[in-house]
Amino acid sequence: MVENAVASAAKSARSALSRTTGADFRTRWKALAAEGLLSDAPRPPSGRAAGLGPVTTALAGIEGIGLAGAPAGLCYALASQRFGIQCPLRPVLSQEVRHSLGDVAGGDVLLCHALTEEGGGSDPLSMSTSAERQEDGSYVLTGMKAFVTAAPIADVGLVFARTSADRTPFALSAFLVDLRVPEVKRSDPFRKTALTEVPMGSLTFGGVRLAPDRLVGHEGSGLALLTVTTAWERAMLLSYALGPMRRVLERTVDWCKSREHFGRKMGSSHLVAARVADMALALHRSRELVYRMAARLDAGERPRQLAADAALTKISVAEDYVMFTQQATMLGGVRSFIEDSGLCPDLISPMAASTYAGPNDLLRVTVARELGLPVEN
Ligand SMILES: Cc1cc2nc3c(=O)[nH]c(=O)nc-3n(C[C@H](O)[C@H](O)[C@H](O)COP(=O)(O)OP(=O)(O)OC[C@H]3O[C@@H](n4cnc5c(N)ncnc54)[C@H](O)[C@@H]3O)c2cc1C
Repeated sequence: MVENAVASAAKSARSALSRTTGADFRTRWKALAAEGLLSDAPRPPSGRAAGLGPVTTALAGIEGIGLAGAPAGLCYALASQRFGIQCPLRPVLSQEVRHSLGDVAGGDVLLCHALTEEGGGSDPLSMSTSAERQEDGSYVLTGMKAFVTAAPIADVGLVFARTSADRTPFALSAFLVDLRVPEVKRSDPFRKTALTEVPMGSLTFGGVRLAPDRLVGHEGSGLALLTVTTAWERAMLLSYALGPMRRVLERTVDWCKSREHFGRKMGSSHLVAARVADMALALHRSRELVYRMAARLDAGERPRQLAADAALTKISVAEDYVMFTQQATMLGGVRSFIEDSGLCPDLISPMAASTYAGPNDLLRVTVARELGLPVEN
C-alpha cells in the first residue's frame, strides 16, 4: 500500500517537475503543492482508497517527490513546512486563524519556523528576541532570527520570542508573524552549502505590532509548543532524504553492475557488494523508522509521548544518511567528484542533518538523561 502511494506521488511529481524545469523555487513549490501534499487531508494514491493515515500519506508523498528527482532542498523545505509547522500547529490554531493565513495548502503562502538566533541555536532560553504586551492585548516584536530556512521568501513566520525576561520554561511565546510588512527586514539569502535549492536567511523585527490573535496558544507556552514542533521534526523531517537515498542506491547498483575492473564487473567483488548491501541496510532502517513514526502519529499518539523515540529516529536516520552517502561516494570513484557525471552525491546536505532539529550530540544527552544518567546539556 505504501509502495503504491509512493509510486503514485512520484508519477504526478515527475509531471509537475518536468512542467516547471528551470523555474524558480516558488513556482516549483506551488506545482508540487497542487498535488495535495501540503493539504491537511492529503490525497491518497489515485484510483482507490489507500487506507493510509494522513501522516503516512504525506510521508509517501514526500518520498515520491524525492524519488521523482526533486532536488533535496525542495524535498527538505516541503517536509519542514508540512511536518515541522503545519502538523504541530493544526490542533492549536482555531479554524479562523488558520483561514487568516491564506492558502498554505495550495502553496500560495509559504511558512517558516523562526527560532534560532546568532547567539543561540541549541539553547532557546538564551534568545533575545522579545514580544512586549501592550495595554490593548497586542504585542510589539523586536529582535532578529538567523539561519531560518525560507526566510528570504516566506510569507508568514512561526516566530518564538521572549515574553518574560526570566530563564524559566514559561519565558517564551510563539507568534504567527506576517513577514510582508515594512517592519520586517529580510537578509539576502545566505550563501549556504547544504540543501542549496531552498534559501536561508535572517529576519529582523523592528517593532512589529501583532494583534492578540497572532499569539499561538497562550503567553508563556512557547517552550511547550517548541517541544511539539521539534518532536514532529525529529520524527518526520528526515523523510525528505528517503527519495534521494533510493535514487542514489539505484544508480550505485547500476554503476557497480556496469563498471569493469580486473576483467570482471565491479559488483562481483564481495567488498563492493557488501558496501552496496550496507547502503540498502541504511535505507531500510531509515524507512522503517520514519514510517513507524508516521504510523504512531496516525494512530493518535501525541508527539510529546513519542519525543524520546523521535530523537532516536532523528539521530539514526541522520547518521545512516551520512554513512550511506560516504559509501556511494567511495564506490563512484573519481566520478563522485565530477558534477555532471551523474554519480556525484551531495556529501554536505546529509551532514547538515546532524545539526538542524536538534544537534545529534545534544539529542544523545537527552536520550542518556531519559535512561537515568545524571547528565545535563
Ligand atoms: C540546513 C539547516 C536548516 C536550518 N533551518 C532552520 C530554521 O528553519 N529555523 C531555525 O530557527 N533554525 C534553523 N537552523 C538552525 C538550527 O536549528 C541550529 O543550527 C541548531 O539549533 C544548532 O544551533 P547552532 O548551529 O548555533 O549550534 P550550537 O548550539 O553552536 O552547537 C554546535 C555544536 O556544538 C555541540 N554542542 C553544543 N553544546 C553541546 C552540549 N551541551 N552537549 C553536547 N554537544 C554540544 C554539538 O555538536 C553542536 O552540533 C537550520 C540549520 C541548518 C543546518
